[in-house]
Amino acid sequence: EPWQQAAGDCVTLAGASAALLKQAGHKYSHGHALVLAGGPGQGGAARLAATAALRIGAGLVTLGCPATALPENAARLDAVMLQTVDEPADLTARLRDPRLNALCLGPGLGVTRARALVPAALQMPRATVLDADALSCFADNPDTLFANLHDRCVLTPHDGEFARLFPDLARRLRDDPAKGPAFSRLDAARSAAARSGAVVLLKGPDTVIAAPDGQSRIADATGDQAAPWLATAGSGDVLAGIITGLLAREWEPLDAAATAAWFHAASARNFGPGLISEDLSGQFSAVFRALSA
Ligand code: AMP
Ligand code: MG
Repeated sequence: EPWQQAAGDCVTLAGASAALLKQAGHKYSHGHALVLAGGPGQGGAARLAATAALRIGAGLVTLGCPATALPENAARLDAVMLQTVDEPADLTARLRDPRLNALCLGPGLGVTRARALVPAALQMPRATVLDADALSCFADNPDTLFANLHDRCVLTPHDGEFARLFPDLARRLRDDPAKGPAFSRLDAARSAAARSGAVVLLKGPDTVIAAPDGQSRIADATGDQAAPWLATAGSGDVLAGIITGLLAREWEPLDAAATAAWFHAASARNFGPGLISEDLSGQFSAVFRALSA
């Protein structure tokens, strides 16, 4: 891939794949993503994710929310469709539609709703992004989560969420290197991927991505690649949506996660200072245009 540079046994992302620009076929051949949202007043994160999934190129995106949150979501979304998802049984019924091929679980979902819906979602294997509350709700029993993950799952923890699921690895990251061999964020992501059986994208100023088979990627935050404006509310929700959109396009989970991290940072760089998360997906078309130039 021209967009990757080898860095030891890892790969540093230096740009995005030309595959991002392929846009043949019709909306029904570009996948259909379902983004689950929380209750009234808590839908912003899921709306950010849903919009990003659509703008990165998913053919159709549906937001699944409680009936009580339908009016406010309807007032704020046009191209994203809406469905009621109150109970786990509603979700199971929606997922009987085989055209729904990617799921985004976590942004703004709420821990109570996540506890009920995430296990139901994982019963119906779909390419799935688990972020935010879908990770935090397993803090007391991460092994229950890992037992239900499959190889089309992508976990996108920030450091706090990572520490809830992998407390021992987080501790090793904090350990004084003088006490033993240094343990890097990449080591931590690789161990977490092997343990959970999912792709793990560990977010931060530099984002590292690892797959259960040991392959890994670094989205380098130094020099030209830095996008410090991403340290703003909701930016992780946009990242979850980009990955979900690429999964709907049938991308492999590791490539989807790595390319999304690059695209997310490129969008932030394109906007620059003053960025808020609502601005990110508005930059996608400029990033696409620069890629095709
Ligand atoms: P979240 O904490 O879930 O909102 O995710 C924050 C997003 O912003 C992740 O994609 C991080 O990689 C990114 N991010 C946070 N701080 C920085 C920073 N200082 N420089 C570059 N990216 C950052
Ligand atoms: Mg987040």
